[in-house]
This record gives sequence, C-alpha cells and structure tokens, in this order.
Amino acid sequence: MLKMIELPYPLNALEPYYSMQTLDLHYHILYKGYVDNTNKTQEKLEKARNTGDFENLKCLEKNLSFFGSGAILHELFFMNMGPAVPTEPSSQLMEQIGKDFGSFEMFKKQFSEASKAVEASGWALLVWVPKWKKLEVLQCEKHQDLTLWGCIPLLVLDMWEHSYYLQYQTKRPEYVNAFWNIVNWNEVNKRYKNIS
Ligand code: MN
Repeated sequence: MLKMIELPYPLNALEPYYSMQTLDLHYHILYKGYVDNTNKTQEKLEKARNTGDFENLKCLEKNLSFFGSGAILHELFFMNMGPAVPTEPSSQLMEQIGKDFGSFEMFKKQFSEASKAVEASGWALLVWVPKWKKLEVLQCEKHQDLTLWGCIPLLVLDMWEHSYYLQYQTKRPEYVNAFWNIVNWNEVNKRYKNIS
C-alpha cells in the first residue's frame, strides 16, 4: 500500500508564493487521488494475477503508470518546495550544473523556458541520467507516457514491428512466447542485484 507523504511544512508555509488554499486542494484532494488510485490499481492487478483474468490489463497498466507517476511526481514537487528562506545547490551539484549547462543562470533559463513550453498538462524536470552521468532538463506531458519515474529497467522486450515482423509477421503472441526461451536471467539478476 502506497501511503501519502506528510508535508514537512504547514499549509501556509509557502505564502505568498504558493497560496494555502492552492496547496490545501493540491495535497488533500488531487495528490490523495493519485495515491488512492495507485493503490486501487495495484489491488486490481493482484486480482488479475490471481484469477488469470487479464482482460483489462492494458487499462490497468495505463492507470498504474498515470496514477503512480502522478503520485511520485507530486511527492517530489511538494518535497522540493519549502518556506522562502534562501537555499542553494551544494558545491558538488553546482559543479555538475556548471559542467552540464554552462552555468547556474543558464540552467535556470533552460528550466524556466522548458516549463513555459510544456504542451498542455505536464511537468518540467531536472534529471540525472545514470547512463550518461549527466544532468538534463526534460519536459513531461501528463505525468507518465507509460512509465513510472525513477524506475530502473530490469528486463525489456522490443515490441516495435522491426523487431519481429520479418520472422513472425502479425503473429505477435508467438514472438512474445518465443522470447521467454532466450531470456538471459543472469544479466537480469545482475541488474537487480545492483539496485537492491
Ligand atoms: Mn498537480
């Protein structure tokens, strides 16, 4: 069961920059909805696994990604705000920002512009890309695009047509079934061990 995080500051602590009423609604109604619906979705997924009824799986996976990513991003958002007392990046983070964006001012400019240019509903994010050992600014539409933020891939299967069409044509299920014969679990185990 996912639990709501507690706000580490009172509801009026971000005034006048972020009003108490806005934070109240955002935390108690909207964020709560994401957490509750993530839990409901996980219960339904458990039921599907137990009954073997995967009829609604596509919808459930979508909901897991939407509500779960909504919950995770709101937690980051609430936690990365605080009362208006000046703070700044640590010397290590500042050094990395300088390396990857040129300067703190240039990072702020890119982050601000990315925020303002988010199409419809979404987020702007400063992220660390472990593969590249690099900071990047990203935009995200809605919350998810079918992922959960911060998750680390352990096992992947390419479902683009180029990966199977020449051999399996429209027989996608045959390709998926065949895949299980060639999974190298040693590699998956290694990845899992590195993160757990
Ligand atoms: Mn929100």
